Amino acid sequence: MTYSIALVPGDGIGPDVVHEAVEVLDAIGDRFGHTFNYVELIAGGCAIDQTGEPLPPETLEAAKECDAVLLGAVGGPKWETLPGNLRPERALLGLRAGLGVYANLRPAALMPQLKAACPIKDEVLIASNHEGKAAFDLLIVRELTGGIYFGERGRSADGNSAHDTETYSKPEIERVLRAGYIAARGRRKQLCVVDKANVLESSRLWREVAAVVAKDYPDVATSYLYVDNCAMQLIRAPGQFDVIVTSNLFGDILSYEASVLTGSIGMLASASMGDPASGTGKKATMGLYEPIHGSAPDIAGKDLANPLATILSAAMLLRHSFALEKEAKTIEKAVDAVLDAGYRTKDIASRGDAAAAAKEKIVGTKEMGQRVLEALSQA
Ligand code: NAD
Repeated sequence: MTYSIALVPGDGIGPDVVHEAVEVLDAIGDRFGHTFNYVELIAGGCAIDQTGEPLPPETLEAAKECDAVLLGAVGGPKWETLPGNLRPERALLGLRAGLGVYANLRPAALMPQLKAACPIKDEVLIASNHEGKAAFDLLIVRELTGGIYFGERGRSADGNSAHDTETYSKPEIERVLRAGYIAARGRRKQLCVVDKANVLESSRLWREVAAVVAKDYPDVATSYLYVDNCAMQLIRAPGQFDVIVTSNLFGDILSYEASVLTGSIGMLASASMGDPASGTGKKATMGLYEPIHGSAPDIAGKDLANPLATILSAAMLLRHSFALEKEAKTIEKAVDAVLDAGYRTKDIASRGDAAAAAKEKIVGTKEMGQRVLEALSQA
């Protein structure tokens, strides 16, 4: 089969990590007889430099024409002083809204090889794990095209006050909840709605809608948690969570917190999906795939970025947009094998465990990508 993939490398470490993921996709294509045609597009700071706009209309139009989109990251200090509507991060919002990808799936699991990079003690992990293991495996489903990131915002005439608005409609809440329930059915069948319903009216609407939608999924156990408590529970007992469904802002923050538990933000992949069957042609569902991390200006150009989150995002792309499960699994197995063999970028190196550290080989972005390619041939 031939597929077209829009590549949006972006800024900072974005191009480096996307480059490694593309090499992996090409190797998969060779092995399984698929052709991936790439359409390279600009968005973010690089687009501002070239066109004056963070998301040139041609980028969105071309992305829509492709079968899936793989994005690196955007932003950086160079563009930080621009007005809000001209900042690189606007490109993310524009792409997500323009592609209609409202359900952002962010899996966060502790891989056994990275236990020494997880800051939580074994006994804390074991206490909440359903199998009594020092592990956790959760999925954050973040609403991606609504809420405060898209709400009305502004400054008062004198510039001394500012506001951002959290607005959600029932259909917006319902569709992301359904995405969460569908995901939960394929997992441990537990779904936790995370909100701030003790204070926010929009959160109370989330609960109202959830109470109705939950009836359609009687096989899934539904629970509710305030976001402040959830932030605490993620550290105190991460194993208690299966699927968390939450708003755009809360999902953004909680997934960064969850990433630390997995060892590093450099490990967390994501898939942003639209309505099932929203795609055209070969694509069953429009999907935007990206690591959850940003452009990491502090390590950009230093060969320090962990490319695994982007490589794993490419695996999610094959699974969710192209239904290529075997191919996706092959990538995941290769990543597993590389970690088994002790290769680590600096961010996932063991902390304070000398025995574990002695078995590790610290490598840069490029070598990590090469190791995954080598492992692919045996996976
Ligand atoms: P960040 O995620 O870029 O970096 C946070 C920390 O994590 C940094 O110390 C960084 O070095 C480290 N890190 C991130 N990715 C890593 C990787 N793959 N390997 C190893 N270490 C990694 O967040 P930030 O510093 O708050 O933001 C930097 C810029 O990125 C800002 O302009 C921000 O707006 C933007 N941003 C973009 C996205 C996106 O494109 N999806 C997401 C978040 C932030």
